[in-house]
Amino acid sequence: MKIVLKNLTKKFPSRNKKSKQEVIAVSNFDFEIPDGKLIGLLGPSGCGKSTALNLISGLQMPTEGRIFFGEEDVTMLPPEHRGVGLVFQSYALYPHLTVQQNIIFPLENLKGSAKLTKEEMQKRALEAAKLVQIDQLMERKPNELSGGQQQRVAIARALVKLPKVLLLDEPLSNLDARLRLQTREELKRIQQETKITTIFVTHDQEEAMSISDQIIVMKEGVVQQIGKPQDVYDDPHNLFVAKFLGTPPINVFEGRVEDEKLYIGEEAVLDVPFVADQPIYVGIRPEGFQVAEDGPFTTSLQGVEVMGRDISVISKHALCQNENIRSIVTAETKVDTTKETVSFRLKPYKVYLFHKETEKRIYFKQ
Ligand code: ADP
Ligand code: MG
Repeated sequence: MKIVLKNLTKKFPSRNKKSKQEVIAVSNFDFEIPDGKLIGLLGPSGCGKSTALNLISGLQMPTEGRIFFGEEDVTMLPPEHRGVGLVFQSYALYPHLTVQQNIIFPLENLKGSAKLTKEEMQKRALEAAKLVQIDQLMERKPNELSGGQQQRVAIARALVKLPKVLLLDEPLSNLDARLRLQTREELKRIQQETKITTIFVTHDQEEAMSISDQIIVMKEGVVQQIGKPQDVYDDPHNLFVAKFLGTPPINVFEGRVEDEKLYIGEEAVLDVPFVADQPIYVGIRPEGFQVAEDGPFTTSLQGVEVMGRDISVISKHALCQNENIRSIVTAETKVDTTKETVSFRLKPYKVYLFHKETEKRIYFKQ
């Protein structure tokens, strides 16, 4: 089921009694979510991710705009009639019910032609439980399960009504690091098996990048960029997106363009054809540096971290916003750690320029 959002906006009155300034939690969302894909909705805490999800599920009403599931306008439809499955950060299972009873619960209130027999409900619950691989645990109570298993029950409970759309709000946040990794791969598999259109909310860029067919990056209620994870990483449209994606993060410098050359401090570090003279932000991905004795860009060397396949060269520069510059180079690279400085050549396609005021990307010919 494809989802179409048209000018979708949600405003909240100010919580602060002194200021009347309202909060625009979701600002003018206007895009399509393709059928059968896993979409990562990504942004820092407080940027409006949960509000966006709540609007799509019907738990909250928009201030303006419309929501379509396929061709159907569902804007005024209550959540129970939208055919959505919801999973939240807290699993919210019924402690006194078994796993099976928890999964069956949403089916018990079905009315009219949707009403199921007991056998049908049990069969559906078993199918959902198999999908998330907890069918061996049907008779247990929630407190006899690990966090990861409890979250699987919550996912099975969301799947049991055969939803057209699955909405997951930071579903892995309560799991420890190892389980988080494992469960996110499971989620990917379940989505691929069921082909249910899924929106996965997270503030963790790595999590979103690793499992999403497409990511939507948002900041303060406003969508910044939509695209395949790799495309957004390779071609960020503004400084926020460039900084939000990538571990280690992009290195950001204050620079300037003069005569189609990019300067950081007094060094001309790269040719940037067709860019007008101006002060500029320069973002360089960690993998954008090559150690070269005669390289044009010099930083003060702090140390080298060996990571097996790669090494991370750690250095500093007065015009860098990051505390340390991290450059990832291949393990064969020779770095003379007795020296005070290290010099680099830059890979042009890993260097991004951003307007000093608007922070929008400025492209140069490579
Ligand atoms: P996220 O899920 O990305 O952390 P939220 O959608 O929860 O963000 O919140 C987005 C913004 O809307 C925040 O500034 C938050 O304080 C505000 N907000 C959320 N819900 C309400 C509400 N019920 N009343 C007032 N403000 C709210
Ligand atoms: Mg949230």
